[in-house]
Amino acid sequence: MEIVCVSCSRGEDEVPLTEWRYQGDRFAVCPECLPMLIHHREQAMQRWHLNRQSGGDDDAPR
Ligand SMILES: [Zn+2]
Repeated sequence: MEIVCVSCSRGEDEVPLTEWRYQGDRFAVCPECLPMLIHHREQAMQRWHLNRQSGGDDDAPR
């Protein structure tokens, strides 16, 4: 499975990617989208659907 930036969906062939871990999951972010994660983390996590504890949407495939 290809790893892509959680924000802009570019793959590691196009941009350098850093892999992060959160609540047992992993996601990748490229340098261009990283400031968003650092400076606006809560917004970014919501936008990228990384917050699991909020509400009852269960779109996480198991
Ligand atoms: Zn990106």
